Amino acid sequence: MKAVALISGGLDSALAAEIVMEQGIEVYGFTVVHIFSELIKQATPSYAEKSAKELGITLHSHKASQDFLDIVKHPKYGYGRNMNPCLDCRIYILIKAGQYMREIEASFLITGEVLGERPMSQRRDAMNITDRDSGLKGFILRPLSAKLLSPTIPEIKGWINRDRLFNIQGRSRKSQFMLASQYGIREFSTPAGGCLLTEPNFSKRMKDLIKFKPDFILKDVELLKIGRHFRLPSGTKVIIGRNEQENNKLLKLAGDKMMHLEPQDIAGPVVLVESNTNDEDIRTAALLCSMYCKKKATWKHINVSKKDQQQIIRLGQEERVSDKDIEDWRV
Ligand code: SF4
Repeated sequence: MKAVALISGGLDSALAAEIVMEQGIEVYGFTVVHIFSELIKQATPSYAEKSAKELGITLHSHKASQDFLDIVKHPKYGYGRNMNPCLDCRIYILIKAGQYMREIEASFLITGEVLGERPMSQRRDAMNITDRDSGLKGFILRPLSAKLLSPTIPEIKGWINRDRLFNIQGRSRKSQFMLASQYGIREFSTPAGGCLLTEPNFSKRMKDLIKFKPDFILKDVELLKIGRHFRLPSGTKVIIGRNEQENNKLLKLAGDKMMHLEPQDIAGPVVLVESNTNDEDIRTAALLCSMYCKKKATWKHINVSKKDQQQIIRLGQEERVSDKDIEDWRV
């Protein structure tokens, strides 16, 4: 008998897989990587990969793309404290895991969810919603809290012995740490680590993007991760690189749709501006560019490049944007 375990790289999901493997079930790991799981992606191998390796199971990684953005734009069940649509995200992950389960002819899914551990997605009613909306009601086993939940199909059919499952609930992680030492599990990341949508500063940028560019694509989200961001009163977005690495990334992402500005004679930041903007905004972007040049010069020439066109804006050293405007525009 086969089952698919959702592996996040955290302790709970590793324990859940281990508990089921102990009952003789062949477990396959499954994880979803999306554009907001930045910190998770940065670790190589990823936490999920390390966890699967320690468990001795294979890991199938699903890379979420544009379809995941629709969830962030219009979550049916709303956002958590920041821009994290956890309930909708869980449903998305379960649907993808369910597809994989059918693909490999596994019989049920395993998750490391613990009743009451997280406010949004691990409440009893939230679990009922995710089970129903994913179309997997009865097929999702939560070994850590199973004894507090209605029996699932694997338990009813006797594939899994319910007596050997657990009744853990709440935010204390004491029971999980005890089980970890019992099972010898050492590789795990901190709970919920790494989702940019739970970060207040990133969420502020995300909210701004949804408001001003509701049809945003993956590249727009990539841009949110880099540089200083400003929203000018006209609605034009200006992005300023903070160092050479960010400048290079911005140039790569600029493409045809954005114009980029750079100081001509002195070192300074790369600045991106949406191409369809007006001359006043281009001049403001040039001023911002000049203000973030480290070196002082009497005159600054800012190169503006848009596709094949080039333009030079000449700015005096005293010309500047007020500190108040900068703060008001900052995203
Ligand atoms: S924290 Fe992020 S990755 Fe985790 S469930 Fe919420 S939205 Fe999804």
